[in-house]
Amino acid sequence: MAATQPLIFRKGLDMKEAVAAELAAAYDSKIVDDVRAGDFTFTSGRLTVHLAREFGFCYGVDRAVDYAYQARRRFPGQNVFLTGEIIHNPHVNDRLREAGIRFLSDPGERRESLGRDDVVILPAFGVTVSEMAQLTSQGCTLVDTTCGSVLNVWKNVVRYAQDGYTAIIHGKVKHEETRATASQALRYPKGRYLVLLDRAEAAAVCDYIRDGGDPAQFLARFGASASPGFDPDRDLDRVGCANQTTMLMSESLEIGEMFRAAMLARYGPDRLAHHFRAFDTICSATQERQDAVIALLGERRVDSMIVIGGYNSSNTCNLARICADHAPTFHIADPGCLVSKDEIRHRPVGPPSTSAGREEISRGWLSADGPIVIGLTAGASTPNNIVGHVIRRLEEFCREG
Ligand code: SF4
Repeated sequence: MAATQPLIFRKGLDMKEAVAAELAAAYDSKIVDDVRAGDFTFTSGRLTVHLAREFGFCYGVDRAVDYAYQARRRFPGQNVFLTGEIIHNPHVNDRLREAGIRFLSDPGERRESLGRDDVVILPAFGVTVSEMAQLTSQGCTLVDTTCGSVLNVWKNVVRYAQDGYTAIIHGKVKHEETRATASQALRYPKGRYLVLLDRAEAAAVCDYIRDGGDPAQFLARFGASASPGFDPDRDLDRVGCANQTTMLMSESLEIGEMFRAAMLARYGPDRLAHHFRAFDTICSATQERQDAVIALLGERRVDSMIVIGGYNSSNTCNLARICADHAPTFHIADPGCLVSKDEIRHRPVGPPSTSAGREEISRGWLSADGPIVIGLTAGASTPNNIVGHVIRRLEEFCREG
């Protein structure tokens, strides 16, 4: 007997209106709406807050959270699971748990016991090819919220694999999205990938392309970030660039240019197209948030910047990196990090290779008197109600004097 095909929802579950009020109550913010309407500036006493013109929930996260609530409403008598965090925001994940959605990444949950009566939500950053195959074979009903911008990256990585190009992926090798993207390369026999974190790693690989080197040394450094059986002498002959959608876009573009230059030096202009490919896999929401803080910092004088978002949120960390080049910057996870007008808990800002996600406390972060101007932005996984709480807390501290 042929196996039953699982049901896969990719375009919502016809419950949008039914969950709209619940979503608004959980994540909207009146004060944020007012600040938007007031040219993105909030003033109260000696405090001025300039909000970036693009911040917070992106279209992919908005849709994923919406579908999760729709799924819970659509299947009231069934177990509804998420494969892991839906997005990198503890507040949103906690709310989903409260709504009765279970996390397969939690201790005690067993993926192997899932079956046809279970509903599984796939996150905005997608899942690996093998995870998808496993869930499909178990017959679970799937709610696939993989973002269109992630699917666009996958499409290009698959094309590289079909045509015999190694996908060079600018990303974090342990990030769910990058693991899912890399797995796409292995769908075809000639598919290979190499994940690179930053310019320094890209420079080392480009040196190898230009000048050659010792494969054993190469693999000692990059073996864990490369596809199984990677051979630098064979697999760096033809490369195509891609990226995790939430990386620092200027760095992704620079890395693409570094590879183009290395291939040009090695093979010359006539053979370049045969050895190098690049497609625009930049996510517009990430780009817009990064552009908006650059614009804010170019147009406004600020005493400091506050960037709100999970410490494991890649796009939030990159917003903080941009801000830190221009002003003292505090990356905070939630409003509770604003402990008092003297004390702030935050994650130190740094390049991905040095950012271990540890939190530290700084004192004297808010001047005790005189005007205070704060710039504010939030990562793509931070809802407006969190941004609103931060503004209220700042107002409270400044009112105290
Ligand atoms: S950051 Fe970009 S790719 Fe990721 S979910 Fe949001 S819109 Fe989609």
